Amino acid sequence: MTKRYGEHLALEGLDLTVGAGEVFCLLGANGAGKTTTLNLFLGFIEPTAGEARVAGQDVRQDVARARGLIAYVPELVMLYPRLSGRENLDYFNTLAGRPALSRQESTAWLTQAGLAPGAMDRPVGGYSKGMRQKVGIAIALAKGARALLLDEPTSGLDPLASNELSETLRRLSGEGMAVLMATHDLFRAKESGTRVGIMKAGHLVETRSTQELGHAELEQLYLTHMRG
Ligand code: ATP
Repeated sequence: MTKRYGEHLALEGLDLTVGAGEVFCLLGANGAGKTTTLNLFLGFIEPTAGEARVAGQDVRQDVARARGLIAYVPELVMLYPRLSGRENLDYFNTLAGRPALSRQESTAWLTQAGLAPGAMDRPVGGYSKGMRQKVGIAIALAKGARALLLDEPTSGLDPLASNELSETLRRLSGEGMAVLMATHDLFRAKESGTRVGIMKAGHLVETRSTQELGHAELEQLYLTHMRG
């Protein structure tokens, strides 16, 4: 995929496949093209050249169908503060035209997303950022998404919440979800990712399996690209 804004190439010739069971972490400085990549898969913008596909579905051909297969968890998940986590899940689920969830079903989705049972019926206004994110993930799961896209999911999370998110993503990928996340968090990318990709000025300049890289090596590799 290539995305051009006038003279400016936000993304050039990106060729990336994130398979079921993978957690792919996109790294790169601000403006490298990470958000552009996510936006192309989500159909928020159209590629200048090339195509984005979600589980085989060309996004441009049928954006509604593609969006049915993908779920997006933004940096700050927008929820209704006066409603509980469960009510937010119910609301967004119904809004998407799906059958109402039973209490048992909403408990199951929220549990899968890592939300503690005691928090499910409390107003979201009192939730931490990590808890809101869990509701966002539960909404994605209830929708039956095959791919999960996250933008800067660990920014502003405390280490425990961040670790829980890593575990949740690993678990979901283990169940066949394809996960693509943009992040500045090298430590978490190594912890939760199966692969990392380093973007620079609209190019994916390096792709590595996290198994073959230590934390220090990943940082060194990243810095070498950023300085080079
Ligand atoms: P960040 O970490 O800040 O989110 P990023 O890697 O996600 O950075 P992008 O938001 O994808 O970067 O931006 C890639 C490039 O495209 C940047 O140079 C940005 O200024 C440019 N860009 C993005 N959207 C537009 C737009 N609507 N019009 C013009 N240029 C844009």
